[in-house]
Amino acid sequence: MGSFTPVLLAQVGKPESYTRKVYERDGGYSALKKVLKMTPNDVKETVKSSGLRGRGGAGFPTGLKWTFLPQNHPGPIYFCLNADESEPGTFNNRILMEDDPHQVLEGIIIACFATQARAAYFYMRCEYPTAYERVKRAIEECYEAGYLGENILGSGYTLDIHLHRGAGAYICGEETGLIESLEGKRAWPRIKPPFPAVEGAFRKPTVVNNVETCACVTQIFRNGVDWFKSIGIAPDPNNPRDAGSYGPKLYCLSGHVNKPGCYEAPLGITVKDLINDFGGGVWKGRKAKAVIPGGISMGLLTGDELHCPLDFNGPGKFGCLGLGTAAVVVMDDQTSMVDFLLNSCRFFSHESCGQCTPCREGTSWATRMMTRIKHGQGRLKDLDLLAEIGETIGIMPGSTICGLADGAAWPIKNCIKKFRGELEEFIKRTNPTGWNETKPVPA
Ligand code: NAD
Ligand code: SF4
Repeated sequence: MGSFTPVLLAQVGKPESYTRKVYERDGGYSALKKVLKMTPNDVKETVKSSGLRGRGGAGFPTGLKWTFLPQNHPGPIYFCLNADESEPGTFNNRILMEDDPHQVLEGIIIACFATQARAAYFYMRCEYPTAYERVKRAIEECYEAGYLGENILGSGYTLDIHLHRGAGAYICGEETGLIESLEGKRAWPRIKPPFPAVEGAFRKPTVVNNVETCACVTQIFRNGVDWFKSIGIAPDPNNPRDAGSYGPKLYCLSGHVNKPGCYEAPLGITVKDLINDFGGGVWKGRKAKAVIPGGISMGLLTGDELHCPLDFNGPGKFGCLGLGTAAVVVMDDQTSMVDFLLNSCRFFSHESCGQCTPCREGTSWATRMMTRIKHGQGRLKDLDLLAEIGETIGIMPGSTICGLADGAAWPIKNCIKKFRGELEEFIKRTNPTGWNETKPVPA
């Protein structure tokens, strides 16, 4: 990692880094000025050719998403910034919004120009009061400087940004739940298709992008496509569907490490290098027993899988769902995997919106079973039942409306597959007379 210089986090730590004065002093808004001399189509093509993939979790190619907007639509077209960051262990968007909100705003304005959006909705989770105040002020500063409002910098392009606060529900981060919430309704995800690009906010074509994705857009126009593609991992030549993993990435490292924090590194850094080179190693001289590679919904790596590369394909090769939000949570060798799984099940059961039976019932059953196991009433058979829930709640295409159920399933599946021995030992030790019981027990 030796020669890598942080770009997305370059302003972090500088005094008043969140002000327009400091941002402009360090080259801020030069990218926007360049972009306003281009055609919207050329801006889209530039982002497409950079290979930028969305940083919110799914890794969908950003430029491609922009081209899904219907051609010659009478409009208006809307843009939503998904700043409802709620995946456990994820805080990279908060750092960007608190310490460098103008980098994000510049990216939003560029994205809106490319897609010719007439209004942008900045949807931020309510638990970020400092970010809220700083973004609010930064938007005001943009209007004062002519970067927002009518006829931006004399370009003829007009854009308004509306800052909106969520109310603390995980499901509001799902893009159609976010849109419903923005419209003043309960955040129930919508059935897709239609995707928001075709029918989104207020039933109009809408682009939804993540905070870090917009910061990357700014940097692509500031430093160039070649610079962006010189970082990260090129597509696998043996996989024609692989779009590669280009660019810098913000990794949120937390849990049992000496120096938790938000670190910028090229896509493809291994879990081990992230923990050792950035996090100062596992705390108290212990070993890692398990690592969440990208937010809890991505599943689990074992302590023997720390060579896993953190690019869009890496965790998938180790039996996890994917890179997700790149929130890496380390659990040391004294962590109880029973506690981990109970916490995970409880979280998803609490956050399920309840529309789909497999998600609503599956997450609730799993939580009740894990609670029973935790309280010394578990049976070995429960692990098979849990595995069955893990296999059925999320993976059947079309069985649920959004990805929450799939996200709930991965920690269950991975934990039972990779840590079954520990779970069995716990059940036998804490339920010495009933662990082998096969008759049904009340949940
Ligand atoms: P997805 O793969 O369904 O969609 C990704 C994006 O591509 C969406 O914007 C979608 O509208 C667009 N898209 C996909 N196919 C399309 C098509 N055919 N036409 C037009 N647009 C299309 O994934 P998702 O459900 O939006 O997101 C799931 C991810 O969210 C998970 O992998 C998880 O990591 C992440 N997540 C992040 C957080 C967070 O705090 N950042 C929280 C929870 C989950
Ligand atoms: Fe709601 Fe779960 Fe269905 Fe998503 S999968 S819509 S969270 S019930």
